[in-house]
Amino acid sequence: MEIEQLVDYLKNYSGPKVRLMEVCGSHTHAIAKHGIRNLLSPQIELLSGPGCPVCVTPTAYIDKLVELSLEDNTTVVTFGDLLRVPGSKESLNEAKGRGGSVEMVYSPMDVLGLAKANPEHSYVFAAVGFETTAPVYTLLLDNIIENNISNIKILTALKTMPGAISFLCDNGALIDGFIAPGHVSAVTGANYFNDLAAKYHIPFAVSGFGAKELVIAIYGLVKMIEEGQPAVKNFYTSVVENDKNKIIEKQLNKYFEPADVVWRGMGSIKSSGLLLKAEYSKYDAGSAGLNEDNKRNKACRCGEILMGKAKPADCPLFGKVCTPMSPEGACMVSEEGSCFNAFIC
Ligand code: SF4
Repeated sequence: MEIEQLVDYLKNYSGPKVRLMEVCGSHTHAIAKHGIRNLLSPQIELLSGPGCPVCVTPTAYIDKLVELSLEDNTTVVTFGDLLRVPGSKESLNEAKGRGGSVEMVYSPMDVLGLAKANPEHSYVFAAVGFETTAPVYTLLLDNIIENNISNIKILTALKTMPGAISFLCDNGALIDGFIAPGHVSAVTGANYFNDLAAKYHIPFAVSGFGAKELVIAIYGLVKMIEEGQPAVKNFYTSVVENDKNKIIEKQLNKYFEPADVVWRGMGSIKSSGLLLKAEYSKYDAGSAGLNEDNKRNKACRCGEILMGKAKPADCPLFGKVCTPMSPEGACMVSEEGSCFNAFIC
C-alpha cells in the first residue's frame, strides 16, 4: 500500500477504540514534531509512556547529585537536560546557583579530559539512560580502568524497558499496542519484546523516527489489533535486527547487573535497572538505594502521565505554574517529555 492509503485508512478508522503507547522519548518528540496525531481518527489514541530518561529519574537521584556538587573538590558532570530536573527541593542548576560545582558536557567521554587536566579534583558523571546509553558508560569505564584514572566515578540511574512495560501492563494501564523504542531495539534486537507480547497478548511495532516510518508502524499495530495478532513486527529493519547485539551485551554484562530501581512517579520496579557489579564499586559514587521519590510540587501528575493514566492537560499546573522555562516536574524539562511536547504543540 502507498503511504497515502495508510494515512487514509488511519484517518477514517472507525473500529473499536485503540490506545497505543510509545515508550521512547524520541518517539514522543517525533510524533509531536510531525503532527502524527492530526493524521489519526479519534478512535486511535496515542499515549506517551516512560521512555524519556530524565523524566523517570527519581528525586533521590537528583538530590544525590546536588549533594555531590556541593562537596569540596568535587564536580558533577552531566548532560544538559538533567540540569533543570527538580529534585525533592532543588535542581542541579539551582544548586549551581548557590555554589555547587556542575559541568555540562555533550558526551560522557568529555569527563576524561576534565579529569586529566585536574588530577587532584574529583568528577562524578551522572550516568542516566536506557539500554541505548548504557553501552557508552561501559566504554568510559574501560577507559578509566585502562588508563588507571582515579578521579572519576559514575552515579548511575540506568533503566531497562521490559520491567517498565510489564509494570504498566500489570497495573491497569489500558494499552492495546506498543510502539517499541527504536533506539533501544537497535541494541537489544526486536525479539527483546517477544516475551512481553506473548505474556500480555499485546502487539509491538518497532518503528523509526520519520513521519512515514511512524505511520507505517501505527498502521501495523492497528492491523495486528484488528486481526487479534499480538506479534512483534520490525518496521525499522534499516537499523534494527531481530537478534540482540552480542558485543554490546557482553560489554554490559561485564560491568552491570540487573537491579530493582525506582522510576519517578511509578515506584520501585523489579529488575528494571542496571547497577555496577560489586567488583567495580570503587567507580560508583553511591548509586544503590536512591529510592526516595518526593515530588517538589505535590500537584505534579508526572507519574500518572508516564503510565498513560493522565494527559499533560489533566495536570492543574500545566502551562500555568509549570512551563518549559519553569518546570515543576521532570516531564516538562526535556524535549522528550510528554508535558514539554504537549506545551509546544
Ligand atoms: Fe508535572 Fe508539570 Fe507535567 Fe504537571 S505539567 S505533570 S507539574 S511536569
